Amino acid sequence: MAEHRQDIKWKYADPAMAAGSAEVIRILLENGYEAYWVGGCVRDEYMGRNVSDMDITTSALPEATSSIFERVIPTGIKHGTVTVMMNGQPFEVTTYRVEEGYEDHRRPSRVTFVREIEEDLRRRDFTMNAMALGIDGTWVDPFDGRKDIDLRLIRCVGEARLRFREDALRMVRCIRFASVFGFSIAKATWTGMLEERDTLSWVAMERIRSELDKMMSGPDPLRGLELLKGSGLHSRMKIPFPYKGHEQAIMQAIPEVPSERLDIRWALLLFGCGIKAAEADMLLREWTFSNRRRELILGLLAFQETWFGEERGRDPEADRLAWVRLVIERGADAAENWLLMQEAISPVDSPAQTFQVDEARKWLREMEVRELKDLGVSGNELLKVMDRRGGPWVGEVLNHLLLQCAAGFLVNDKQVLIEEAKRVMNNEVR
Ligand code: ATP
Ligand code: MG
Repeated sequence: MAEHRQDIKWKYADPAMAAGSAEVIRILLENGYEAYWVGGCVRDEYMGRNVSDMDITTSALPEATSSIFERVIPTGIKHGTVTVMMNGQPFEVTTYRVEEGYEDHRRPSRVTFVREIEEDLRRRDFTMNAMALGIDGTWVDPFDGRKDIDLRLIRCVGEARLRFREDALRMVRCIRFASVFGFSIAKATWTGMLEERDTLSWVAMERIRSELDKMMSGPDPLRGLELLKGSGLHSRMKIPFPYKGHEQAIMQAIPEVPSERLDIRWALLLFGCGIKAAEADMLLREWTFSNRRRELILGLLAFQETWFGEERGRDPEADRLAWVRLVIERGADAAENWLLMQEAISPVDSPAQTFQVDEARKWLREMEVRELKDLGVSGNELLKVMDRRGGPWVGEVLNHLLLQCAAGFLVNDKQVLIEEAKRVMNNEVR
């Protein structure tokens, strides 16, 4: 076997990941098979974007790949994918294959392994995703993916209408890529999308949500939203997207939120669409958001509704107490996130203008206690000193103490708290 002295150097991939995947390819070649890097990693390297994972495509059948490498996980062996562990890192290695039988506009019912890499590339969605790169730097780019990247164009491999009919998720992927990369959509691809848009209702919301997450955390989510609306896809999802347009100041704030705070962006989107917390709860469940993310987003909406549900800015002390109550009710994390959200809204004209973010930040900092576990006395201790049977009063008294401490009316000291508890229980008013 020839030595590959001139292995290509990856500029945008982690060196250890590049070396590990090169080793997998090298071993496959040494065993007489073909193997290439393929898909997203090749595209991202060409575009000068950070490469997040490196997939390999090979002529070796999954059984062959499994027998060649020591540590192999049969991830999706039926579809030809195994995960090869190399130097402690996982790499997906997939046999050249084609997919058939897309009766329901989503997953293929059959996959068939094929001999030629070009056939494998042909089943991929867009020209920029249908390229492979060899270890010596050879490009396999039969659909001119590099040319389309240079033209900043998203173009289906083959006839758009057929490709979207096979798997309707590709339409959302198309918009996601256009939004994240700032690319245009080739005319025939766009037309094909309009013709096939009704098939989107077949696609599981989980797959759509995952694409939308990528779009929402990208540099230009508003363009993605406009494309969704412009194509009509937003109203054709299994659970439609209640997006009407992004003129409102709230929508303009979305890209102002750092992209790592994806869920704040989602909260702004829901808020900007005029969706109330109760309705958002249903929607987020149906869109398959995890409980953790749903609660975070709902916390932000609840903050928003409660805070702006009353007139603010007239009586600072009343505002401060309302704020403290809200922080205790919803948690300090929700408060921090909500402040970040307000900072994004403030530069643009909005009702939030009246609200002083700096002031609230100061109030939050000044809160010595924020939750029950910060309190200098516990429910059990109260039970002991009060010499009463347990009951709802324990929680009520603890909450009262928490609020008093958080607002700075009481010192967080066991004796002081117990005194106050006794006073409250004896119905003494301070
Ligand atoms: P990302 O950068 O978000 O990972 P990606 O293009 O790598 O984008 P993946 O879901 O990781 O997306 O898919 C890897 C490759 O598999 C794609 O580059 C493309 O070649 C192919 N692919 C993925 N999804 C589809 C699809 N629905 N239809 C056809 N080909 C697809
Ligand atoms: Mg990928």
